[in-house]
Amino acid sequence: MNTWSWPVTKRIGFTTSLPVEVLYAAGHTPIDLNNIFLSMDSSELIHKAELFGFPRTLCSWIKGNFSAALSTQLDEVIGIVQGDCSNTNSLLEMIKEEGIPVYRFSFPSLRDYHQLDLEIQALESHYEVSRKQTLEVKARLDQIRAKLVYLDELTWLQRKVSGKENHLWLVNSSDFQGNPDQFERELDEFLYQARQRDELPTRIRIGYLGVPPIFRDIYDSISDLGGDVLFNEVQRQFSMPFLKQDIVDQYLVYTYPYTAFDRLKDIQQQIVKRDLHAIISYTQSFCHLQIDNLLLRKHINLPFLTLEGDQPEKMDSRTILRLESFFEVHS
Ligand code: SF4
Repeated sequence: MNTWSWPVTKRIGFTTSLPVEVLYAAGHTPIDLNNIFLSMDSSELIHKAELFGFPRTLCSWIKGNFSAALSTQLDEVIGIVQGDCSNTNSLLEMIKEEGIPVYRFSFPSLRDYHQLDLEIQALESHYEVSRKQTLEVKARLDQIRAKLVYLDELTWLQRKVSGKENHLWLVNSSDFQGNPDQFERELDEFLYQARQRDELPTRIRIGYLGVPPIFRDIYDSISDLGGDVLFNEVQRQFSMPFLKQDIVDQYLVYTYPYTAFDRLKDIQQQIVKRDLHAIISYTQSFCHLQIDNLLLRKHINLPFLTLEGDQPEKMDSRTILRLESFFEVHS
């Protein structure tokens, strides 16, 4: 097994996927604040942010990211101020106000190679690494990403891995949980176990679109109702499954930071490839991506259910009822 030496000097939080290769090349530990938020007492973190004055009518992920940043002894926070969330600039100002240095990273809205190259160069310059060092780390991380591509195939093709397991592995690949070697060891063990399983029965083949759910039980509920999630759109994007050699190309084919139509192209390809029967599109309360969801809904010619979540909790009775009705009509 190839291993990389990961000298750790700083803990760097970030608000959504970005070229983590640069941070690892600099010897730092990247920490996805969203994953920290969900792994801690999420309701308490939201409450703490509201005590700081964050409004009730603001996305819970933003409040969670703020409190997570303050709770995890970070040396710096990188905010993705273009290509993710319209609230990130203000979030960064609040984090800076609490004494944590911040850095702004942007995905170019026009998906332009040169612009993105300049952004990555600026990130490399900030963390004092060369492109050669970045690419060396990328080659190592791509070995792990190739295993995640296989895990994804075990989900939709060989039916040995559930949609919930797929979600958890792919979403955690945004930062490799701060330790790629450890992540890979656990992944190898999981893949070994999964290969021994009997094939899962395939029922209604579901595509899950949108940001990772804040609901704790959405995958279990879909499964209980007879659906199998065989495609996790954004989580798969976080795992950088295209394995491009060039780092700029990798973050150009990554669809999440760009337009709804960039996402749609990838979704349409996967609908055909995975023979999906229906779509469940998750949106977060008070999120601008609800507007993109209108376009996805309009252009996807499959049964399409939009679910909206707000707090990190189990699904409420109204949402469960909507899910039940959807499966009753389409099973
Ligand atoms: S769910 Fe939407 S509003 Fe909330 S942090 Fe993500 S992009 Fe921003």
